[in-house]
Amino acid sequence: MSLVQNRKSTLTKRQRREEDWKRNKIKIARLKGKEYVTLKGKIVGPRQTGPPCGCRNRCTEKFDEDEKDRIISDLYNGRPKDEQDAHLQSLIECVQINRRRPRKTDTEARLRISNFHYYMWKGDERIQVCKQAFVSLHGTNAKAVQRLSNLLRLGVQPEDQRGKHSSRKLLPEEDLQKIMDHIKTIRSNRYTLETVNFLEAQSVVSMYKLFIEKYPELKDKVKYDYYLKLDNSYMEELDN
Ligand SMILES: [Zn+2]
Repeated sequence: MSLVQNRKSTLTKRQRREEDWKRNKIKIARLKGKEYVTLKGKIVGPRQTGPPCGCRNRCTEKFDEDEKDRIISDLYNGRPKDEQDAHLQSLIECVQINRRRPRKTDTEARLRISNFHYYMWKGDERIQVCKQAFVSLHGTNAKAVQRLSNLLRLGVQPEDQRGKHSSRKLLPEEDLQKIMDHIKTIRSNRYTLETVNFLEAQSVVSMYKLFIEKYPELKDKVKYDYYLKLDNSYMEELDN
């Protein structure tokens, strides 16, 4: 930590700007699942389906190539990271194991306290898969899934909360694209159209209203908060 700080303080303003710019470029590439090179020069490949799960249920084989591609492209298309995480987490369930017999040892008891179930959307069907398939099909790694599972265990304990958000599906890519395009169209004109009306139209509330007027069928699917979140992340990209 202090090493980084020391290095940072010796950087010139210009160097710092360049570093911020690079960091932002990396962030965007990562959110979109594209290949990128880290600041330390390590190449991180694009998001893609991992190896078959190899379990006896052959979970990964239940998805054809198109479905596999779609899972990846739907998840990594520039969505904010917290939304990607929330989506993955909505497909994980923490299952409490009720112990009837008295625990033998503390370690054994601790190991058996909870377990996780993993699900995937296949069309409109939500099917259970093994952990390896969940990791592979989402083009992620075991460590990331473990982190989300652990957070879920810490956050969602009461039984009545279980499955509460499990029916939530990711907004389809084409709908997400409509929002992004809408935000981009309005925001990208901000320096060319300097009328008062236009500035008014740029308040996110007005933008959202315009969006719903244009796509009334999305009124229930796309709430204001969600639109605002995407607008924030767009503006963040723009400012860097
Ligand atoms: Zn499997």
